[in-house]
Amino acid sequence: MAEFFDEGARVAVLTTQPLDRLLTYRAPEGGCWEGAFVEAPLGPRRVMGVVWGPGEQGFDASKLRALVRVLDVPPMRAEMAEFLTRVGDYTLTPMSFMLRLATRAPGLTNPPSMRKIYRLGHREPDRMTEARERVLEVLESQAQSAFTLKELAEEAGVTSSVVKGLVKQGAVEEEESPRDLPFAHLDYTAKGKDLTGDQATASEALRAGVRSGDFGATLLRGVTGSGKTEVYLEAVAECLSQGRQALVLLPEIALTSEFLKRVEERFGAKPAEWHSGVTMTERRRVWRMVAEGGAQMVIGARSALYLPFRDIGLIVVDEEHDSSYKQEDGVLYSARDMAVLRGSINGAQVVLASATPSLETWANAEAGKYKRLDLTSRFGEAVLPEMRAIDMRNESLPGNRWISPTLATAVRGRIEEGEQALIFLNRRGYAPVTVCRACGHQIGCDHCDARMVEHRFLKRLVCHQCGESKPMPEACPTCEAVDKLAPVGPGVERMAEEVAEVFPDARVAVLSSDLFASARALKAQIELIAAGGADIIIGTQIVAKGHNFPKLTLVGVIDADLGLQGSDLRAAERTFQLIRQVAGRAGRGDVAGLALLQTFQPEHPVIRAILSGDEESFWRSEASERQAAGVPPYGRLAGVVISSPEIDPAMSLGTALARADAPIRKIGGQVFGPAPAPIARIRGRHRVRLLVKAPKSAPLQSALRAWLAPFDLKGDIRLSVDIDPQSFY
Ligand code: ADP
Ligand code: ZN
Repeated sequence: MAEFFDEGARVAVLTTQPLDRLLTYRAPEGGCWEGAFVEAPLGPRRVMGVVWGPGEQGFDASKLRALVRVLDVPPMRAEMAEFLTRVGDYTLTPMSFMLRLATRAPGLTNPPSMRKIYRLGHREPDRMTEARERVLEVLESQAQSAFTLKELAEEAGVTSSVVKGLVKQGAVEEEESPRDLPFAHLDYTAKGKDLTGDQATASEALRAGVRSGDFGATLLRGVTGSGKTEVYLEAVAECLSQGRQALVLLPEIALTSEFLKRVEERFGAKPAEWHSGVTMTERRRVWRMVAEGGAQMVIGARSALYLPFRDIGLIVVDEEHDSSYKQEDGVLYSARDMAVLRGSINGAQVVLASATPSLETWANAEAGKYKRLDLTSRFGEAVLPEMRAIDMRNESLPGNRWISPTLATAVRGRIEEGEQALIFLNRRGYAPVTVCRACGHQIGCDHCDARMVEHRFLKRLVCHQCGESKPMPEACPTCEAVDKLAPVGPGVERMAEEVAEVFPDARVAVLSSDLFASARALKAQIELIAAGGADIIIGTQIVAKGHNFPKLTLVGVIDADLGLQGSDLRAAERTFQLIRQVAGRAGRGDVAGLALLQTFQPEHPVIRAILSGDEESFWRSEASERQAAGVPPYGRLAGVVISSPEIDPAMSLGTALARADAPIRKIGGQVFGPAPAPIARIRGRHRVRLLVKAPKSAPLQSALRAWLAPFDLKGDIRLSVDIDPQSFY
C-alpha cells in the first residue's frame, strides 16, 4: 500500500534532473501520497518529480523546502516504480533518465482545461488549393486524433492562416473541447473470425493465460499469413473482458494504420496510439487516459512500455525478432525483454509473435521458460512460397547490372500474368560508394569513419551514420579531376534505374524509408501497391515488415549474401530472418509464390537453411554454435563504448579499464579490448570499444558497476554501457 505523508513530513523525491540521488523535501499543503507527481523547487526553478518514499531524517529541518504542489495526474503506481527501478538497474541507467522515459507527455504539469481543437467540417471550401487539400487530408486520415491549430498547421505543412481560412468556410470546424477525453469503447463481446483448428487451439491457450490473471510468456510462432494477429486479438478480447488493459507493440509506425483498421473491424473502434508520429496534444491525452483507465488498448512503439497503465493484463510484441525493438541511443534497452519484465511485475501475459523468432526467444521456449504455440499453415488457399537459389557464378551479367537473366525472365512471366514482383535489396540510396576513377579516392563523411552514400533522388551524398549530407561534388575532393566520380555497387534507387531499362513498360514503385517525407506518404505508396497500382516493387527491409500485398507472387533477392559478411554474432540469424520474412511476402493470395535468391555461395549453410525451410534445424545448429562460444543466449555480453573528440584519452581510459578487470574476472567474466570500434568515428567523436563476456548466471550488472565506479570521466569523454548489445558498430 502506498504511504500517505502529512503536510510538512519529509519525503524523498525523484526528479527528471540529472542528479544521482533522491532529493528531500517537506510534503506540500494537504500532504501527499507516495507516487504523487509533484512540482518541486530546485534552486530558482521548479521541476517535476515523483514522491518516492519517506525522506532522510539527517538534514537540518529548517533548510528543507516544501514541495510546491501535487500535480493533477494519477500518482505513479507501485508496479511502475518497480518497473522503472528494475529497468534502470538492468541497463545501468540513472533513475532520472528512467523517469523521463515514463513522463514523455507534454503538459503534465498543466491543469486540465478547455482548448480549441480542429476537426473536419461539413462544407466544401469555395476554392481548393494544394495547401487546403493537405489540411483536409490530415484531418481525414487521422480522424480520431485531436489537433490544436499549431499541430494541424505543422502536420499539413501550411501556415495557420490556411487553417483559419478553412474554418471561415466551414470546411474545418473549430470547437472548444475539454482536454483528454476518454477513448471510444472497444466492444470485446463482438465476435471475431471463425478460427481454424490450429488457430482455435492457440487462441484458447492464450485466453486461458489471460484468465489466470498471472504472468506468463508465450512464443506465438506462425508463418506470415497464418493468422497470428487474429489469434492474439482473441487474447486482447479476453483481457478487455476482464476489465484490464492491453498493449500491442509493433516494430514500425508504417504498420499502425493497417493494424488500427483491423482492430476497428474487430472491436468497433480504434484504440489509442503511441509513437513518434502522434501529436503532443494526443500524447498527453493517451498518457492520462492510460493512467485513468480511459484507454482500453494501446498500439505503440517500444516506448509505450513506459506508459502508466492502470491495470495492464496483456502485452503483445508483434514481430518480436525485429531489431528495432532495441533502443540504440539514450537508454539502451530491449523492448522485447522489458515487456517480459513488465508482464512479470504486473501479472500480465506476454505474447511474442513472429514467423522467425529471435534465437533468444526460441531458446527460452526450448528451456520451458516460455510456452510455445505454433500455427503451421497459412490461412485459406495461400501456401508458402517455393524458394530457389540463382547461382550467380553461372549467370552472365555486364558490369553495373544486378538483375540476372534468370530473375528477369521470372519477373517478366509474372507481370505478364498481371501479378506483382518484388525486387529486394536492403540498401537505401543509389550507390553505397562513390569513387574517383582518376585517383581511387572514396568519398567519406567529414565527421564519421564511413563512406557517404549517393542519394540521387535527393541529389546529395548522405552519411548513414550521422545523417550529414552534402551536394554531389563535380570534382574529386582529393585530386580535383572533373567528371571522374563514379558510383560503385547498387542501392534501391539504382535498382529502379536498371528495372526501368530491363522492363520499360512496367509500373515501378520504390519502397525505401528515406524516400517519403511523411508516414502518410509512405502509407499512400503502400496502399497503392496493395491495390495493384504497380507491377514491380523495389524495396529495402521495410517491405519485409508485415505488409500484405495480395497480388505479389514473386520475390527476387538481389544479394542474398549481403548480410553474411561481417563478424556480427547475429549475422546468420538476421539474414535467415530477413530473407524468410521477405520471401513470405510472396503468394499471400490464391496464386502460389516463388522466391529467388541471387547468391554466389548457394552451398553456404545459412543459404541452404533458408532454402530448405527447415527452421528447427537451423535454430538448433545456430544454438549449438552459440553455446560452444558462450555467447547469448547462452552467455552474457555487455558492450562498452568510450568516445571523445581525440582518440588518445578514449584509448587510455579503455586501457586502464582493461587493466582493472578484477571485478569482472571475479564473476568468471572476461574483458576484451580496447579496440577502435568498427565505426571508429561518429559525429566527430573517436570511438573505442570494450566487450565484456560473462557466464549466463553471473551477476553482470553489479560486477560492471564495481568495475566502472572508480573511473571518473574527465573532460569531454563519454562512456556508455550496452547490456545485451544487438549491434556492434
Ligand atoms: P499473420 O499475423 O500471421 O501474418 P494474419 O492474422 O494477418 O496473419 O492473417 C492473414 C490474413 O488471413 C488476414 O487477412 C486475416 O484476416 C486472414 N485470416 C486469418 N485467419 C482467418 C480466419 N480464421 N478467418 C478469416 N480470415 C482469416
Ligand atoms: Zn557522418
